[in-house]
Formats: sequence, structure tokens, C-alpha cells
Amino acid sequence: MKLSSKRKSFTILIPAYILLFLAMSCQKDSSVDLTEASEIVAEEVSNKPKSYPGVEEELWAYFELFEVAAAAQGLSIDLTAEGITGIIEDLEEDQVAGQCTSYSHAANHVTIDTDFWNRASDNFKEMIIFHELGHCYLDRGHREGQLESGNCISIMRSGIEPCRDAYSNLNKAYYIQELFNPGSVNVN
Ligand SMILES: [Zn+2]
Repeated sequence: MKLSSKRKSFTILIPAYILLFLAMSCQKDSSVDLTEASEIVAEEVSNKPKSYPGVEEELWAYFELFEVAAAAQGLSIDLTAEGITGIIEDLEEDQVAGQCTSYSHAANHVTIDTDFWNRASDNFKEMIIFHELGHCYLDRGHREGQLESGNCISIMRSGIEPCRDAYSNLNKAYYIQELFNPGSVNVN
């Protein structure tokens, strides 16, 4: 854990809405979070690149972020041991960004749509991969509904019911807590 790399990650302290705006053109910095939990995430990932056999290389960083985010919530997750595979390829269904395929006699498989991947910000990519791993690893179903703000209660929303995706640097800590400990988030 080098202090210098930690500092470097935090040179951009600007409001989340600007980060969202910049996310398309600023791939590196848009993943930087302003919360304490994600501070650890960003630092761990930048210092310790990890590979995931059977997972397309572009997805590795997000798989690792999932493990580190889980660790910050007190859960020990090893996606490699679980054998979950992942790929980026065209999903034929319109407006589907990702998919988890479950197998009874093989490890679960995450598919991320190519068009989505090419267009999405880092945060949106992270949200969709965390959503699919929420199905594929955490065995979660969908959780619908919205907070008073109109933001979705969970990143495990189906996308069918109305709520606003708000997986921004500002809200990430809440959504990660809800993802790994849904019972700890009291709504309604
Ligand atoms: Zn889903």
C-alpha cells in the first residue's frame, strides 16, 4: 500500500455529476471513489493486478473490484475458486447490458454486451458487472423499488420498473452495502 499511489487516485475531487459527465472520456479517474470504503478498493486494485482464468481480460479489474468491495463489507469472496467465467460479446436482446447464465454442473457465466461495453462509463460497467455477479455469485434475484430521491433502491433492479440508476461516486458506498448486505438497508 503505497501512499503515493493513494494520493494520486484522489487528485480529482469534483462533484459526482461532473465525474459522470467526464466518465466517457476519462476512463482512469472515473472509477475513483470519494468514500472511505472505495478508497481501499481503488488502492488495493491499483497495487495488485489479479488474473481470472476463463474471464476476458478487460473484465478482470471489475471482478477484482467486486472481491475487494465484498471484503470491505466483511465478506471473503474468491471468484477464481468459484470458477465463474466471463466474456464480452453481442447479446441479441435489445437493451440488455449483461447476463448471468447458471449451470447446474458447471460454474456460472457472465456475459457483457459488446455495444454496452463500448459506450458505458467505468461506473456503469462496474454496476452492470456487480449486478451480474450479484446473480451469478451472490445468488440474488432482482430488487425493485426506489428511494425517496427516485434513485433505485438496489443495483439489482431489473430495469423494467421505473427508478433512476445512480451508481455514482457519491452513492456507491450505499449501493455496495445494499448489494452484499441487503438486509442492512432499511427502505419502505
Ligand atoms: Zn438481473
